[in-house]
Amino acid sequence: MYSISVDPGNQTIPVNTVYCLGRNYAGHAREMGVEPPAEPVVFMKPATAIRNGDSPILLPSFSNDIHYEIELVVSVNDVPGNVLTEDASKYIMAYGVGLDLTARDIQSTAKKKGLPWTLAKGFDGSAPVSRFIKAGNNLITMNTMLRLTINNHIKQQDIIGNMIFPIPAIISHLSKYFTLRRGDLIFTGTPEGVGPLQHGDEVTVELVDIVSFRTKVQKL
Ligand code: MG
Repeated sequence: MYSISVDPGNQTIPVNTVYCLGRNYAGHAREMGVEPPAEPVVFMKPATAIRNGDSPILLPSFSNDIHYEIELVVSVNDVPGNVLTEDASKYIMAYGVGLDLTARDIQSTAKKKGLPWTLAKGFDGSAPVSRFIKAGNNLITMNTMLRLTINNHIKQQDIIGNMIFPIPAIISHLSKYFTLRRGDLIFTGTPEGVGPLQHGDEVTVELVDIVSFRTKVQKL
């Protein structure tokens, strides 16, 4: 069973589906050579992609270019269909931080051929996540910051408020197409500054002042 831990209370909650937003920060869209999207770009990872962030990141042998992408991760409650953006916040169950690990070489080939990103994005271990913190009491604000540090160098740092599609708009959009169930995760997109991970890297992944994890990269 693939699950997350939610504090306070150290509750274990199973995850069925992992939804992900692509190109949700203008700076990242541009560094990938595309314009910021007019509609949310959605893809998925299987639940088997989830790992506890504290365990080592294992670089798979099928790629020579695994990139880090720090992202705010939202876990939802059961969400009814066709939720309005203005009603969507109440379905947020908890917040965490994670990495949308991406086999950039495989993704580039898929993009060129017009093929899906599934192998590049959904492989085992491609979604390391922190513990989650129950939503409420204005835990998250527009100024809440994501920060990814490798070997003590800051590589990615931006605020939640710079997302193109804010969390309620994402939930509303997804609810038009999918039945979101309690525990499902939404990776909300990465700011600019993505890059490759190397064997031996020490990675710190922070939702600043809220939750974080620190881990090491190993070649499989
Ligand atoms: Mg991403």
